[in-house]
Amino acid sequence: MLEKYKQKRNFKSTPEPAGDPKVAAERAKQAQSGKGLFFCVQKHLASHLHYDFRLEHNGVLLSWAVPKGPSLDPKTKRLAMHVEDHPIEYGTFEGVIPEGYGAGIVMLWDQGTWTPESPDVDAALKKGDLKFTLDGYKLKGSWVLVRTGRWGASSGSGEARSWLLIKHRDDWAGELDITEFAPKSVKSDGELEDILAADRPDVWTSNKAAAPARGGEAGAMLAKIIERAAALKAGASKAPGRASTRKAAGSRTTTRKTAGKKTPAKRKTSPKRR
Ligand code: MN
Repeated sequence: MLEKYKQKRNFKSTPEPAGDPKVAAERAKQAQSGKGLFFCVQKHLASHLHYDFRLEHNGVLLSWAVPKGPSLDPKTKRLAMHVEDHPIEYGTFEGVIPEGYGAGIVMLWDQGTWTPESPDVDAALKKGDLKFTLDGYKLKGSWVLVRTGRWGASSGSGEARSWLLIKHRDDWAGELDITEFAPKSVKSDGELEDILAADRPDVWTSNKAAAPARGGEAGAMLAKIIERAAALKAGASKAPGRASTRKAAGSRTTTRKTAGKKTPAKRKTSPKRR
């Protein structure tokens, strides 16, 4: 199930996990005992910014790339491109992919457990209509993935891989823009620049041509992130540890403009602001 994942990557140059078949087999076995299944969303600034939505199934992570990220508003259907299965170990990965496939910065934006609402996940996938409940830090309640393109090889045309990620109307739905409201990592509590600063701050300053995004919106975003990461790194090197970096990240967050954001009408508790 991970052939495509492995084909696309050179594990000598990427920090991404190769995926241990024993781990996959163990997870697949555990899943049958009715334990919660893992899900995550990874914010990935590569040639374009997108959110990788992943659901554990049969020991691997079923994966969809969602360009605009999940929306809590049931009226806002988000395009989700079905991509290759990822190893279960990928689910907590966060860091910098310096070059090659997916080069960029990966942030663990949300994680938790998911429960299928249909008893037969394989049948639901085949049908192109998978309903499920999420219990993450940021995403909760009932959702559906609906295929709009023809089912076929994932390597086929874009149309064949097209799905929509839609929030069902429930207590966890609302007009809050969750990607803006909670932009940070649930693993490190950092923004993309903190992840770059902590990992490989000069990876693209020394070699500008290798930067994963140079033009357009993603290019502009990456240029700013590279600049901020360098500043964070310079600040951090003056003081021991990451304390100064943390403080800098915190103060930036508190000055962020948040006024006027609508919150979901019936949300039981606020999502953790990360
Ligand atoms: Mn991605």
